[in-house]
Amino acid sequence: MGLLSQGSPLSWEETKRHADHVRRHGILQFLHIYHAVKDRHKDVLKWGDEVEYMLVSFDHENKRVQLVLSGEEVVETLQEKGEKTNPNHPTLWRPEYGSYMIEGTPGQPYGGTMSEFNTVEDNMRQRRKEATSLLKENQAVCTITSFPRLGCPGFTLPECKPTPVEGGASRSLFFPDEAINKHPRFSTLTRNIRHRRGEKVVINTPIFKDKNTPSPFIETFPEDDEAAKASKPDHIYMDAMGFGMGNCCLQVTFQACSISEARYLYDQLATICPIVMALSAASPFYRGYVSDVDCRWGVISASVDDRTREERGLEPLKNSNYRISKSRYDSIDSYLSECGEKYNDIDLTIDKEIYEQLLQEGIDHLLAQHVAHLFIRDPLTLFEEKIHLDDANESDHFENIQSTNWQTMRFKPPPPNSDIGWRVEFRPMEVQLTDFENSAYVVFVVLLTRVILSYKLDFLIPLSKVDENMKVAQKRDAVLQGMFYFRKDICKGGNAVVDGCGKAQQSMELATEEHEEYALMSIDTIINGKEGVFPGLIPILNSYLENMEVDVDTRCSILNYLKLIKKRASGELMTIAKWMREFIANHPDYKQDSVITDQINYSLILKCNQIANELCECPELLGPAFKRVKDSGSKTDSSN
Ligand code: GLU
Ligand code: MG
Repeated sequence: MGLLSQGSPLSWEETKRHADHVRRHGILQFLHIYHAVKDRHKDVLKWGDEVEYMLVSFDHENKRVQLVLSGEEVVETLQEKGEKTNPNHPTLWRPEYGSYMIEGTPGQPYGGTMSEFNTVEDNMRQRRKEATSLLKENQAVCTITSFPRLGCPGFTLPECKPTPVEGGASRSLFFPDEAINKHPRFSTLTRNIRHRRGEKVVINTPIFKDKNTPSPFIETFPEDDEAAKASKPDHIYMDAMGFGMGNCCLQVTFQACSISEARYLYDQLATICPIVMALSAASPFYRGYVSDVDCRWGVISASVDDRTREERGLEPLKNSNYRISKSRYDSIDSYLSECGEKYNDIDLTIDKEIYEQLLQEGIDHLLAQHVAHLFIRDPLTLFEEKIHLDDANESDHFENIQSTNWQTMRFKPPPPNSDIGWRVEFRPMEVQLTDFENSAYVVFVVLLTRVILSYKLDFLIPLSKVDENMKVAQKRDAVLQGMFYFRKDICKGGNAVVDGCGKAQQSMELATEEHEEYALMSIDTIINGKEGVFPGLIPILNSYLENMEVDVDTRCSILNYLKLIKKRASGELMTIAKWMREFIANHPDYKQDSVITDQINYSLILKCNQIANELCECPELLGPAFKRVKDSGSKTDSSN
């Protein structure tokens, strides 16, 4: 989840005193990097995925499942046995926000050859196996996006009472501080977000109204004024960073060949974020209730919203510098490539001094405003030992601000003095139950970058429309019910896409001629195409694959991955969110009252774990008769 410094964390008051120092030096560090590597090019495609996991423990006798607070030890042992023993070890492990979470990535980035797509799933399997091997009996490693009973009494092992005291980190009525990773970064982030904001975070997620759900649905908090005021009728109320950052996701990072290619991909993929998020929807339940959303995005966004009341526009500006329209965890606010410029139609709050300084240093308007926008934020954590740095050779202050801007896309300058190139990170996806699905989503996104670059595709639409799409994408069953703004003609490439923008001019004329360059489309149309309306991303990927030299086995894997995406988009297969909703609805203990009891939760997570470990089939999610013949590397799929 970002930069992990060691040392003594400062309080919010102390951190705030150093905020200008961190920003000033963060910018100097960025400038050093920029000047050193702005002309770097011919880097090859390298990429990697990040999978976040939860550790769970089943109590079969009492039919309960709990989150195990042993993530720190598990990561340490995984590192000892892995990267610390062998620098070429195929997996890497990192801590995540929850003490019950771990994060795994491939040991080395994948390269640009097609056959690498055929190694992703095996690597993910190895990760699951490594982590599982360290667990106690009845424990499992699960790739679930949100734990349905997160924040319910006794949801952790060992059980811990919430710590609603000022000296604690969250002050939550539901989420104990013991469930936060013990690395001081995480509790300090939690506390400092709350202190900066001036009150606890407030998350209100709409409840799904079932037949027997009380209407209005109102929770009362007689002993807590703050909760009584903050909680909204017909919503599930949550009050801690853990409800958001304690969720798991699936991310992909790519190295581009140059800064301009990275900026181009950043923009193009930004338009894809809401579409793929809806396709990956996997988090319908919060704090023991069935919600009316399918994705975690809005929950995490609110869970780290450190804006003051003034910044949120609730009070006139007095002590804060700006009104800020979004949380630090949200969709991007500006395109970065020249082609994107004319679609930058969102009001952008920037630090003007930083913007001017960057321009004077020779940085162009678009990049300068991007960085000056990220830098309206304060640092949230600072370690006493890390205040004075060597700006020419370190980048912690830059990373401090950068890595706490959790946006749909992240534009990543190379670390100082490294052989890593310019990278972009794709961040909206929810994690799937199986390694097969996670590989499918990852491979789909990486292949999409290949066709965007090879065919010079253009997906850009006004950024305000992408934001509207983000809202639609989180809704229940958005994948089938939602309509999304999407560019109609994506193939007007010309040659100027990456290095200049003759095309922007051309499209401008078209805009006036044809009225709008975009239309509302269903995900099925966007992904699978519709005669006379839109070619569809999967047909484009298929035609790209036909022209590529790919060995039979890899082709077979890729086709199975694309088939999953295709069928999820058409509704032939369910998203995880939909499948989970049906599972609950059909559970004998469910009373149609939107409540997920311990027993229901146990059955659900047990089933998820069986699916993930191929102990049972789940054709509604994965397709019929999908069999992967283990270890032989060959795969068969009789579904068509
Ligand atoms: N777990 C967070 C999510 O679900 C992401 C944390 C990270 O950036 O690694 O989006
Ligand atoms: Mg992470």
